[in-house]
Formats: sequence, C-alpha cells, structure tokens
Amino acid sequence: MAYIITDTCTKDELCVEACPTDCIHPKKDEEGFEAATQLYVEPEGCIDCGACVPVCPTNSIFIVDEVPADKQEFIAKNAAHYA
Ligand code: SF4
Ligand code: SF4
Repeated sequence: MAYIITDTCTKDELCVEACPTDCIHPKKDEEGFEAATQLYVEPEGCIDCGACVPVCPTNSIFIVDEVPADKQEFIAKNAAHYA
C-alpha cells in the first residue's frame, strides 16, 4: 500500500518536509523537478504514516484505497515515476 499524489499538486514540497522516509520526489534539488508536473510517492518507501496528507494545501494526497474515481490513473503514474 502507499499514498498517491494527484495532479492538483503545486510542487510546494510541504509534504516532502513532513515525510519521515524521504519517499516523495522529485525534490527541487533533484533532476527532473522543473519538468515534473507534480510530485510522486515512491510506493516502496512509503510507510503509510499519513503525515503528508494534512499538510497538503491542495488536498492532492490520498491513501491508495481512497483515490477518487476520476484520479485512479495517478496510482499507476506515481509507481511509474520510479519504474
Ligand atoms: S504538499 Fe501537496 S501540493 Fe505540496 S508538493 Fe505535496 S502533494 Fe504537492
Ligand atoms: S504516508 Fe508518510 S511515508 Fe508515505 S508519503 Fe506520506 S509522509 Fe511519506
């Protein structure tokens, strides 16, 4: 299981600062940040702590089981970022 970031992400990195396992990328100092349309959760690094959810000002983060029907494609997109 993992948490999923969706397309309303503004890349402000508030979730990155809250994440205890550093599993949200790309970060500002990493390759691909400028080109990325959003940030992504690395499924294998996520420990399901939920710390990223309340700090997200755009409500872009969901636990995988609760991703809205119209945002399902982002489950694969988050995983694909790390494939
Ligand atoms: S806190 Fe929300 S808007 Fe900000 S980078 Fe994370 S997912 Fe994107
Ligand atoms: S649920 Fe926890 S470990 Fe997973 S991305 Fe959010 S803050 Fe990081």
